[in-house]
Amino acid sequence: MKVARFQFGSTIDYGIVEDERVIPREVLEKALRRDLPEEIVGFISDPSLTSLVEEETPLLDASKQLLTLNDVKLLAPIQNPPKIICLGLNYADHAAEQNLQPPQEPVIFLKPRTAISGPYDDIVYPSIVKELDYEGELAVVIGTKAKRVEPDKVMEHVFGFTVFNDVSARDIQFRDRQWTRGKSFDTFAPIGPWVVSKSQVGDYNNLKITTRVNGEVRQNSTTSLMYLKVPEIVSSMSQVMTLEPGDIIATGTPSGVGFAIKPKPKFLSVGEVVEVEIQNIGAIRNRVVAESSSS
Ligand code: MG
Repeated sequence: MKVARFQFGSTIDYGIVEDERVIPREVLEKALRRDLPEEIVGFISDPSLTSLVEEETPLLDASKQLLTLNDVKLLAPIQNPPKIICLGLNYADHAAEQNLQPPQEPVIFLKPRTAISGPYDDIVYPSIVKELDYEGELAVVIGTKAKRVEPDKVMEHVFGFTVFNDVSARDIQFRDRQWTRGKSFDTFAPIGPWVVSKSQVGDYNNLKITTRVNGEVRQNSTTSLMYLKVPEIVSSMSQVMTLEPGDIIATGTPSGVGFAIKPKPKFLSVGEVVEVEIQNIGAIRNRVVAESSSS
């Protein structure tokens, strides 16, 4: 099941995406004869409801009151996550391109939720930044609260997966020697285009992940190269902080980031389009635009 948030006219809602069709919440409510939570996080945090919808959706009459993807504007599937946790250096190939050893323990940082933007929204290039870069990442979306849960049980708390770009200002990141400022600008967390439930994503430990800039492949890897696998990551985060419904955990980026390209780094420029695609999930596509003096 793919769960998306979308805008149709002046209405913002969530629903299920099947192929090109969008099944809005109210159509699901009529078909199931029950109310659904008004917010997507309420929906994905109720496993009995999500499994019911997952079973019933294929049985719906496809002719009725459905929208298509062309009718709607897809929005960030989770607009206000309680938190965004990001892993650093979690891919063997990405550590190697920086001549770094993998960390003994997970290196994490938090990104503010105000950085979230939609799957096709612009990335705003801040005027104080000199070196803008991309990081294509698989993101985990938490369904139910988890605190100190072992890896073999923790996936019960995961609703699904989405595509994430951990946009980074390298000049600031490396100057500060920690990550918060360089990774926290507004629009530095494009996400989407929807959340795919864990039952439908396939083997999340072996998904192709590709990042293109203006069509040129920059990152071409697989989640099988992660040091810490998804259950270990989520379990390890839950040892530190309570994971809550709607939390997003970005699992690190593979090799091919702009700053590590030899012989010369390739940073992002205004006008370029960055696309991150993950097998069995989909792609997000974001144009880099200059910061306007009025915003
Ligand atoms: Mg990252």
